[in-house]
Amino acid sequence: MKDILLVDMNAFFIMCESRRDNSLLNIPAAVAGDPKYRTGIILAANYEARKFNVKVTMTVNEALKICPNLKLVKPDHEYYEKCSKQVFSLLSEYSPQLEINSIDEAWIDVTSSKKLFGDPYEIACDIQKRIKEELGLWCSIGISENKFLAKMASEMKKPLGITKLYKSSVSEILWPLSINKLYGIGNATAKKLNKDGIITIGDLAKADLSYLVSRFGKYGVYLYERSKGIDDDLVSPHDSKSLSCGRMETLTHDITDLNEAKRVIAVLSESIARSVRQKNLVGSVVQIQIKYNTFKMISRQITIEETSLTKDIYNAGCSILENNWDEDKPVRLVGISLCSLKRKDMQISFDVDGKQREEHLEKTIDKLNSKFGQDIIKRGNTI
Ligand SMILES: [Mg+2]
Repeated sequence: MKDILLVDMNAFFIMCESRRDNSLLNIPAAVAGDPKYRTGIILAANYEARKFNVKVTMTVNEALKICPNLKLVKPDHEYYEKCSKQVFSLLSEYSPQLEINSIDEAWIDVTSSKKLFGDPYEIACDIQKRIKEELGLWCSIGISENKFLAKMASEMKKPLGITKLYKSSVSEILWPLSINKLYGIGNATAKKLNKDGIITIGDLAKADLSYLVSRFGKYGVYLYERSKGIDDDLVSPHDSKSLSCGRMETLTHDITDLNEAKRVIAVLSESIARSVRQKNLVGSVVQIQIKYNTFKMISRQITIEETSLTKDIYNAGCSILENNWDEDKPVRLVGISLCSLKRKDMQISFDVDGKQREEHLEKTIDKLNSKFGQDIIKRGNTI
């Protein structure tokens, strides 16, 4: 059995600010953009402000109404990046098996570190204490046997929590929770499940795999496994992750319309596919990145059959978007990558499903585009 920790920083942006300005520590304070512009919302609120119910994504005006003494600080992302690097560097002292999940959280596989640093709980206590004393920041830590359960455990006590959660207690701890609480589930999926009478994680655990797959495709398998606390994904440091090709686009305005996001994905998929084909590569994992107007970023992926076709990348991207789209959360950036790239096998003997023909067509389009200037030929959905 593995020993995996998920270290999640508490109220990260505002805690970074308090560390360089101690006067923010005991008063309600929040990081927020200029009310006149798109960033005029609360990006992070400290625990004093939360006592007044100040929440992330609230507009500055709303927040000031319920908490008139709220001290507002403009975001300084460069500084948060710097603090984040300090945290990850401290964590890497405990194990080289470190996977960064976002600016404020990372998994560490400490299975082989126990002889040096003690059992996982002792390691977690040490990490939390050092982050507080040496970096002036707070974190919650989840301890488990896999990445998913470590993440779920880290959410259970904030701030400064340390929580263990193992497969053996999933039915007792996770099953009573509403499915929105399951890590990796989007609002759209939660709504669909609710419609089918699946309200709690326990309901999901009792659902048929065949039903979930027919309703959600491969993502159905993800749901089926996670509801039982199963996750075989390994902690993988990013530099050892396989080759990938990705594009992202910061939007000129925040969007909430799924179709608008799909149009962006169509353009990006075209560009990825072209570049992958030029290098004679194929990929089998499609990953979508979404950055919300709160700067929170999520990434979700699915495995597909090896491909270099725009259509396949685009379709996989759309199905991820559909399962994770939340109309209540404005998006400022979307990205898509084709991962697990490898050299395409030279000999294809059978043209079973017309793939070869399609590939030939797309390659011809690439040639025409490179001859006559990019984008002379476009797909219907990107025009
Ligand atoms: Mg986090």
